[in-house]
Amino acid sequence: MGAAVSAHPPVFDVVIIGAGVVGCAIARELSQYTLSVALIEAQNDVGKGTSKANTAILHTGFDTKPDSLESRLLRRGYRRLLEYAPSAGIPIERLGAILIAWDETQAAALDDLWQNANRNGVIDAEIVSADEIYRLEPNLGSGAIAGMKIPGESIICPFTPPLAFATEAVVNGVTLIREFEIAAIERQAPDFYALRSANDTVCARFIINAAGLHADTIDLMLGHETFHVTPRRGELIVFDKLSRPLVNHVLLPVPTAVSKGVLVSPTTLGNVLLGPTAQDIEDKHNTNTTADGIAALLEAGRRIMPALIDYEVTSSYTGLRAATEHRDYQITAYPDESYICVGGIRSTGLSASMGIAEYVVELLTEQCGLTLSKKPDYQRVRMPNIGEAFERPYQSTEAISRDPAYGQIICFCERVTLGEIRHAMSSPLPPRDLDGLRRRTRAQLGRCQGFHCSATVKSILDTTLERSAGEAQ
Ligand SMILES: Cc1cc2nc3c(=O)[nH]c(=O)nc-3n(C[C@H](O)[C@H](O)[C@H](O)COP(=O)(O)OP(=O)(O)OC[C@H]3O[C@@H](n4cnc5c(N)ncnc54)[C@H](O)[C@@H]3O)c2cc1C
Repeated sequence: MGAAVSAHPPVFDVVIIGAGVVGCAIARELSQYTLSVALIEAQNDVGKGTSKANTAILHTGFDTKPDSLESRLLRRGYRRLLEYAPSAGIPIERLGAILIAWDETQAAALDDLWQNANRNGVIDAEIVSADEIYRLEPNLGSGAIAGMKIPGESIICPFTPPLAFATEAVVNGVTLIREFEIAAIERQAPDFYALRSANDTVCARFIINAAGLHADTIDLMLGHETFHVTPRRGELIVFDKLSRPLVNHVLLPVPTAVSKGVLVSPTTLGNVLLGPTAQDIEDKHNTNTTADGIAALLEAGRRIMPALIDYEVTSSYTGLRAATEHRDYQITAYPDESYICVGGIRSTGLSASMGIAEYVVELLTEQCGLTLSKKPDYQRVRMPNIGEAFERPYQSTEAISRDPAYGQIICFCERVTLGEIRHAMSSPLPPRDLDGLRRRTRAQLGRCQGFHCSATVKSILDTTLERSAGEAQ
């Protein structure tokens, strides 16, 4: 099927609203078929909403409610992402997690959690003694009385998955439209929609709503009111890389109904994270950190790992979970309206993204009656590695001899080279600002937060953006 030509703008077969990790995964999944697809994003880049500010754990789903949609799609997404990541250049480290009980009530909950894990197919979880925990984690604060090991819990780079999915989608023909905030949607008889921003219109036969925190607003534009998103603020602290040897596993608390709780976890960039908090707020744009949130984290951190608190803090940030009044994902197909809502993807969307994408394609074919045929010439992509556990360009004699710019370091804290910055700027999905370059290369993410390199990085960015603007005219 191709985009039709008429008086109105071309009609895409499918428009996906929202280029977070979920929308990007759906776009990648659909790019395998002979469809015209547009991925629409209000901001100037993919992965710039909740998807850039999470705890970056690839969850096994051991603690989700068995048979819930979240549980099923999380298990599916976990397996798919583990298979896909190595060839796509997505950094993942299978460190395993230890869930720690600090009192008798929490210890009593371990048995139920172990059974829950088994019901969810996580059959290698194992209850362990305090002695075993301290053998595995000598720097843990005193007072742990029992725990559970979950070997499959992993850490994942949060930045690369949406970029990899969107790049693969674009390379395979998906149209990415950035800086297009959908303000109104009108049904155009007989069979398509007009999606309007302040200045432009895109048309689509099918709509997939993956707008994250704003999925309820889009749902309302289409006449539905089945859930309401209440942002659940999660604040996190990033500790300096020197603290990394302190922690061997992801250290989890016993989860509650509201949140997975405050954890200590290594990151794929080589730091240590402490967080997140969980506080319901009203404002969907308020990603400020707060004095109270940071104080609460430091207090929790002092108990979990006192030595960690002595290390320098590199940064802090806030992410907003798309929590709703329901305890499960809100994914619904409306076949008569050619519309699928993918809402309420609150605490596990990074891990579940590829499972959600497969499920959405099933809904499109089985419930909405879309006939799909695979493209014969699908192209896979490989993203540049930004993970600490894998070879980086500055360490690669092969990369440096191919292009000496890979030996020229621009960001010293994160050892980012001129070659990587140039590569990001000439990629199929180049960044449009420093934040985008940061998520693609790590430049300015280190302990000086760009104090040393930001002028140089900005000048490379501006020169390239000006050149591309000149070429486009
Ligand atoms: C503190 C915290 C910790 C977390 N930890 C983990 C974890 O360890 N592991 C895990 O798997 N998950 C975790 N999550 C959850 C995960 O980050 C989210 O589930 C996931 O990022 C949601 O992706 P999304 O694509 O649905 O939303 P988003 O990333 O928010 O993307 C939605 C996009 O839609 C766009 N949009 C909205 N409205 C419009 C409009 N009108 N027009 C056009 N575009 C629009 C937005 O700009 C945005 O880019 C965590 C979340 C938080 C907040």
